Amino acid sequence: MEHVDVIIIGGGAAGLMCAIAAGQRGRQVLVLESSNKIGKKILMSGGGRCNFTNMQTEPSRFISANPHFCKSALSRYTQWDFVALVEKHGIASHEKTLGQLFCDKSSKQIVAMLTSECDEAGVRIFTHCTALEIASDATYSVTCSRGTFGCESLVIASGGLSIPKMGASDFGYRLAQQFSLRVLETSAGLVPFTLTGALHEICNRLSGVSCKASVTAGDVEFTEDILFTHRGLSGPAMLQASSYWSPGDAIEIDLLPGLDAADLLLAAKKSRPKSLLRVVLAEHLPKALVAELQTLFWPSIEGTPLAELPDDRLREIAVRLQSWSVKPAATEGYRTAEVTLGGIDTDELSSKTMESYQHPGLYFIGELVDVTGHLGGFNFQWAWASGQAAGQVV
Ligand SMILES: Cc1cc2nc3c(=O)[nH]c(=O)nc-3n(C[C@H](O)[C@H](O)[C@H](O)COP(=O)(O)OP(=O)(O)OC[C@H]3O[C@@H](n4cnc5c(N)ncnc54)[C@H](O)[C@@H]3O)c2cc1C
Repeated sequence: MEHVDVIIIGGGAAGLMCAIAAGQRGRQVLVLESSNKIGKKILMSGGGRCNFTNMQTEPSRFISANPHFCKSALSRYTQWDFVALVEKHGIASHEKTLGQLFCDKSSKQIVAMLTSECDEAGVRIFTHCTALEIASDATYSVTCSRGTFGCESLVIASGGLSIPKMGASDFGYRLAQQFSLRVLETSAGLVPFTLTGALHEICNRLSGVSCKASVTAGDVEFTEDILFTHRGLSGPAMLQASSYWSPGDAIEIDLLPGLDAADLLLAAKKSRPKSLLRVVLAEHLPKALVAELQTLFWPSIEGTPLAELPDDRLREIAVRLQSWSVKPAATEGYRTAEVTLGGIDTDELSSKTMESYQHPGLYFIGELVDVTGHLGGFNFQWAWASGQAAGQVV
């Protein structure tokens, strides 16, 4: 059986970053990746341009049972560190919105960068190589489709459950359980909502229409675009809200964020009394959406000029537009989710090194851990930072 210093299971964002950091320290590193190539999620991310970090990265942008856990790793490998690496490789990037950094050209450049850093650090990578079983005594041994390898430090970076078609597996969670580490319940995050009944029909008819809105789930509010789809509701604000949503809950949508709809309608009534409600609203919202809202919220008054509508009726409509309560039937689940919420309980791991308290030499990094970022490059930043944290000590 061949022995190396470090085996990393999973050649995704976290695993590769860990491999680079460990290799640069002169450790002998072997990465086992079940797919035909490394970094598949990096390749598909950000619409092919990889939203590789966020300039506004800070602990409050992460969801975890222990909101303090992510602080140490994030502060020791920051967004600026990753940007410096990207710049060192001459990869042009731009800030799209809200601090989100994307490649100008292609996410392939990020994978090429990581591959080149791995090469330079002497990291060996086996693709088409699925880790099957782990055994431990004083050291660890990993049985994979290429045989059995031994190591001093074993890093599990096998990712979450989202997009099973891309090779997502529950390997890391099963392994944690095998070693008696607590795993917090997992669920799909950053995922579109599905609706049923009349609301589903509305969304289906509006499929492709988007607008800016504030969406509240639990007590967290996001103001970004929402998108109507043939299944329900998507778009950045909905994806963000999905990470805070529990089945059975309603979400609240403000379709006129930053405006006071009552003031707007009452002022319009004064300044242009002959106008119709839908005409005024179509100045702020897509026409097709206004038509659907009309059927939903004020079917009986279509054709009535504003002047003939009592102020209270306008105020009531304003409330509906700014606190539209919608009860999703479900989410689209792991099939389309960007991330997995929950995972390895952070109480089991050192926040400095990602090492298991119970099992010295065993590390968990990346999406597997109960740290989930908001939409916008935060999940990659966690993968880079947690990978670095382990890579410095394995
Ligand atoms: C469509 C999509 C778009 C996204 N866009 C963005 C974005 O723009 N910005 C952002 O910050 N985040 C984005 N994310 C989230 C981001 O991709 C993940 O959070 C990140 O990839 C997690 O990194 P990881 O290394 O922990 O896991 P992964 O990148 O999932 O890597 C895990 C690797 O382990 C391998 N593996 C699994 N089991 C085994 C096994 N038994 N043996 C060997 N190998 C195994 C898998 O094949 C995989 O390559 C996106 C996600 C999706 C699905």
